[in-house]
Amino acid sequence: MSKQSKLILDILENSSTYLSAIEIFQKAREVISNISLGTVYRNLKVLVLKNKIRKLSLNGDKDVFANLKNSHDYLVCKNCGKAFDLHIKNIHKVLSKATKKQFIDYNLTVFFICDDCKKKLVK
Ligand SMILES: [Zn+2]
Repeated sequence: MSKQSKLILDILENSSTYLSAIEIFQKAREVISNISLGTVYRNLKVLVLKNKIRKLSLNGDKDVFANLKNSHDYLVCKNCGKAFDLHIKNIHKVLSKATKKQFIDYNLTVFFICDDCKKKLVK
């Protein structure tokens, strides 16, 4: 694995939210100052293909990335589009019961207003 790929993986593993390519690029530049946005895009594509990270398309236009440890459930801010992990206890058990054990996969996105936006909206 290249130094760049490793760095991108580290960035995603240390992030509590999903990150866009631009956000990853900004963080990567703090470590490898001459890394280009193109390199970040290329590495993200390879990491997704290798199933090392996950890509989530928000509203069809903004792609964000997460490491595999993140859950499959998302909290998405309706205002800024930032995505967070959502952990629902026992959801697999509940779905398995609801589908009479025929449960294969699911996808859950919950919309909310994040703290940052709440602050901005109040002002
Ligand atoms: Zn927000």
